[in-house]
Amino acid sequence: MDRAARLHGIRDLRLENLPRPTPGPGEVLLEVASVGVCGSDVHYYLEGRIGDQVVTAPIIMGHEFSAWVVDLGEGVEDLEIGQLVAVEPAISCGECEPCQHGHPNLCPDVRFCGTPPVDGVFAEYTVMPARNCFPLPQGFSPAEGALLEPLGIAIHAVDLAHLKLGYTVAVLGAGPIGLLIAAVAKASGASAIYMTEPLRSTARWDQPPARRRYTPASGVPGQRRGWRRPTVLASRLPRGRIPAARESSSHQV
Ligand SMILES: [Zn+2]
Ligand SMILES: [Zn+2]
Repeated sequence: MDRAARLHGIRDLRLENLPRPTPGPGEVLLEVASVGVCGSDVHYYLEGRIGDQVVTAPIIMGHEFSAWVVDLGEGVEDLEIGQLVAVEPAISCGECEPCQHGHPNLCPDVRFCGTPPVDGVFAEYTVMPARNCFPLPQGFSPAEGALLEPLGIAIHAVDLAHLKLGYTVAVLGAGPIGLLIAAVAKASGASAIYMTEPLRSTARWDQPPARRRYTPASGVPGQRRGWRRPTVLASRLPRGRIPAARESSSHQV
């Protein structure tokens, strides 16, 4: 059996026993080793949707994961049973023009793990195409393997920004992806990194809990309750310590 957490509706997550999937040709059966909780998973759980992607039937969420290979489908030769792999959760068609030109991320027919209607990996087992699985080098932990998917997003974002040594960088949003982008920007030679973060709880992450203070929202008309206007966190990331941002003046950006 395959135990899985399936979302049946808003805040309605159920642990269920499902039949264990079997790998088809070119696919592998994976035992999930570690899986992250993405902001998109939280949106589906709390709101049942992200924009026009709506949960209309029970779905297993989760897409940031590493896994052990436990069975090989027909024709799979470049993976071995027992390998720990990081997994690309986007299953592209492999045949369209973007896929043929090496841009599977732009495939119009992409199926993405944990996005309706495709089941994800808040589960013990899953089946994925072998070409989506990347064996991890010795010494990688399952959690580090699971972090490679969001890290890939950060690397791609910094790549698109054409960052050069010594540039000053602004990152809008200090959630996990924003923090990873700041880390990659720092590793790429940015001289100073500034971040904005509207959520008070996140914006204060640089302080130990005892020093956290309640700061009233600025009361800008029309703002959602609990939010305040974007804050500039003047942040020079100290060596060896990521993330670190310092407080804060209330400039609008
Ligand atoms: Zn994600
Ligand atoms: Zn394609």
